[in-house]
Amino acid sequence: MRRAFCVFAALQNDTTVRAVSKMKLMSNFKEWKFKYPPNYAELPIDENPAYNEPVAVKNAVFSKVPTEPLTGTIRLVCASEDALKYLFDLDPSVAESEDFINFVAGKYQPPGGLSVSHRYGGYQFGFWADQLGDGRAHVLGEYVNGKGESWQPQLKGSGETPYSRFGDGRAVLRSSVREMLASEAMVGLGVPTTRAAALVVSDDHMVWRDKTYSGRAKQERAAVVMRVCPAWYRLGSFEILDKRKEPDTMKTLFEFIIKYHFLSIDSEDEDRFVKFYTEVAHKNLDMVAAWQGVGFTHGVLNTDNISILGVTIDYGPYGFIDHYYGSYVPNTSDDLGRYAFDRQPQILLWNLEKFALALEPILPEDQKQKIKEVQATLEEYVKRKVLSTYLLKLGLKEIQDGDGALIEDFLNLMQDTMADFTCTFRQLAEVDLKDLEDVSKLETRWSLTKIREGKGWGKWVERYRQRIEKENVSEEDRRSRMTAVNPVYVPRNWMMQEAITDAENNDFTKVRFLLELFRRPFEVNAEAEKLGYTSQPPSWSYGLKLSCSS
Ligand code: AMP
Ligand code: MG
Repeated sequence: MRRAFCVFAALQNDTTVRAVSKMKLMSNFKEWKFKYPPNYAELPIDENPAYNEPVAVKNAVFSKVPTEPLTGTIRLVCASEDALKYLFDLDPSVAESEDFINFVAGKYQPPGGLSVSHRYGGYQFGFWADQLGDGRAHVLGEYVNGKGESWQPQLKGSGETPYSRFGDGRAVLRSSVREMLASEAMVGLGVPTTRAAALVVSDDHMVWRDKTYSGRAKQERAAVVMRVCPAWYRLGSFEILDKRKEPDTMKTLFEFIIKYHFLSIDSEDEDRFVKFYTEVAHKNLDMVAAWQGVGFTHGVLNTDNISILGVTIDYGPYGFIDHYYGSYVPNTSDDLGRYAFDRQPQILLWNLEKFALALEPILPEDQKQKIKEVQATLEEYVKRKVLSTYLLKLGLKEIQDGDGALIEDFLNLMQDTMADFTCTFRQLAEVDLKDLEDVSKLETRWSLTKIREGKGWGKWVERYRQRIEKENVSEEDRRSRMTAVNPVYVPRNWMMQEAITDAENNDFTKVRFLLELFRRPFEVNAEAEKLGYTSQPPSWSYGLKLSCSS
């Protein structure tokens, strides 16, 4: 029997909560065990004992590598209650225990674990970068929870591996806080993502980082984030095997992934290649459409940062748009704006094209042809997905003639008036359509007050009103549909920056508060309102960008 599981299930739904509340959560972490052997033990694993020296690994999908634990006094920064409960069957109080903290710090390995780093390559900013791999990450084992779901915890920042190249195998607190918060916020926002279970920092394990690439490196504290996913394969996992001419290993990896991670595809099906390609493509394009809907810009859409499972992976210099502009680029290293907000769907298509090429060595001729046919449909597929996402944000479910222009004109109005992406949509859900042009009714709706100054706003509102009528959506339905998909809160860089500054002084209150807030980003939260999280972002945060230094 094939198990069914969902990578990013909205975990707060009633059925899951009821199922879990009946299940006994473990409160003694020493009882928590991995399944042995983990499924990935079936794949070729390199066992070179010189694990912490850079090496071009051959004929393997993983390297067996022990973690290099964080040293010094370790503190728990935060833990995701939902991840612990719903993925790991753990009582959240476990997070405070020494064993659990040691687990996240790479010091304690529960029974049944097998610590490995994954070998992959990738196209970085359009160019083949050869072997990359987990240079500071270790997959620890496979946990099968009480619901039968399989989850693999992975440490990030846990020491050197054969893939470390010139890096030190570590991660710093600021980037780890950002990864932790975004991963869990995406779950609340309904966007497919890897998860994050917990984050620890050392008081005295220091690393050097040049945060702004200014030539002035500083010491920062090392941290480790525990990420969780059913599997960690990327487009680049196949690409390295193509470039290094290892078709047998690629075939093994392919059959393995079908068997364990693409349960809807039969291992005997002759069409499994094209089915696999289509599913990887569709999942990733669904994901990018979801990103566009919440104003998320990944920042580094290299093929090594694209998951085979179609979940958002590797949160680095990402950004959620504040005031809207299509060419928003959060990453200081992306001079040409290759990975700008409005280019993301196109970039995913480019990446998927490379992926089809990488698979060629294992494709039977007819499958090659069929994949080409699928490829020809992908641009239209993602266009419609993005359009539907925006229509839904406006309270509409059908796609009708002229909708593309309706959306484009709305985004242009936002851009011209520097209206806020998240707040404009949300505030549009909060007022009656008939009040939209009455400034006295807009009160605290500051973003709507901005956009209404745009040239052609009145005409746009009229078109919108007619479009709503054409689909026969009542005002009540429009507003409730819109409130369900337009979040009140997203992890804005400025909010996280404040939390990071506190965390660097060992005050984790704000990080923990944000983690809690993003569990329900569609609900107004009194405390968040006091902190100004739906007000205009502070002037100091304008144009805030991030570097890849992490
Ligand atoms: P990223 O930009 O985070 O996706 O990383 C690109 C590649 O660089 C991956 O192979 C990472 O494992 C590697 N990498 C990033 N930072 C470090 C580090 N501090 N030590 C070793 N490898 C790293
Ligand atoms: Mg990466």
